[in-house]
Amino acid sequence: MPAVIMDGKSLGMKIRLNLKGKTELLQKKGITPCLAVILVGEDPASVSYVKSKGKALVEAGMKSRDIKLPFNTQEDELLSIINDLNNDKNTHGILVQMPLPKQINEENIINAINPDKDVDCFHPVSVGNMVIGRQGFLPCTPHGVILLLREYNIPLSGSNVVIVGRSNIVGKPLLNILIHKENNATVTLCHTGTRDLSYHTQRADILIVAAGKPSLIKPEIVKEGAVVIDVGINRVSDTSSPKGYRLCGDVDEAVIEKASFFSPVPGGVGPMTIAMLLQNVLEAAERSITSFK
Ligand code: NAD
Repeated sequence: MPAVIMDGKSLGMKIRLNLKGKTELLQKKGITPCLAVILVGEDPASVSYVKSKGKALVEAGMKSRDIKLPFNTQEDELLSIINDLNNDKNTHGILVQMPLPKQINEENIINAINPDKDVDCFHPVSVGNMVIGRQGFLPCTPHGVILLLREYNIPLSGSNVVIVGRSNIVGKPLLNILIHKENNATVTLCHTGTRDLSYHTQRADILIVAAGKPSLIKPEIVKEGAVVIDVGINRVSDTSSPKGYRLCGDVDEAVIEKASFFSPVPGGVGPMTIAMLLQNVLEAAERSITSFK
């Protein structure tokens, strides 16, 4: 039997609707959650991400403050903008779209964002809180993956979870969240240094792939009945599409025949990431009530 398709689009919409209700309540107290989104340059994928984030914010009744800067922006100029946003009580979240041009050190930029406004959860303080399970923002994509697993009642406690990819935004935080006591999973993290990837993937009850490599995961390296979450977003050329390309994940679609649950691309983790970003912006706005009193 083919896998149950995990519908991140519907779940994401449901969460966004709920956030809209909470935003309306906050607005009655005179606060409109506002996210400042900084885009340096005009990388087409980044432009498209920023546009969809802005649209989602506005649909949820929140404010999106778009700050578009030229490609040759210098690091000190960006740092000064971030400093102003840190001090602006009407801006609750700050997001700097990565990657940045070479003249700007990404680490310096991440470090400059006030952790209270760090809705991406990239700042070392946010990461530290997440690792030790202290209250704080959870990173959007990993949080979206966890909620998607919970929505389909996938048991995490005691499960063997294998993650492919060790990035700071997906693989590493997912590992940390999954090993927290409330999730209780046993996690293996694979990366380019892993000697035999298939050895690990074949043992996964839950396989989560964030490698950025189309068709990296074929059915023969997936356990029968596994839950497979495809985080990858790749543009592959497709002459039949008006755009000349289509989006695909890291998992070969034939895996659907072997898995019990499958999160597709598009329509799986992507929409959950956006919903979690909105959730963090709302949370930042709610917290600002106490911090600016
Ligand atoms: P990255 O692109 O920074 O790094 C890729 C990771 O995959 C590395 O850690 C590398 O070690 C590992 N890897 C690559 N090839 C491998 C192989 N053959 N075997 C084992 N490991 C391998 O990681 P990222 O930023 O997490 O992005 C990964 C993918 O996830 C990209 O396609 C990205 O677009 C996508 N992504 C999607 C979302 C979403 O919302 N759905 C969010 C973030 C990233």
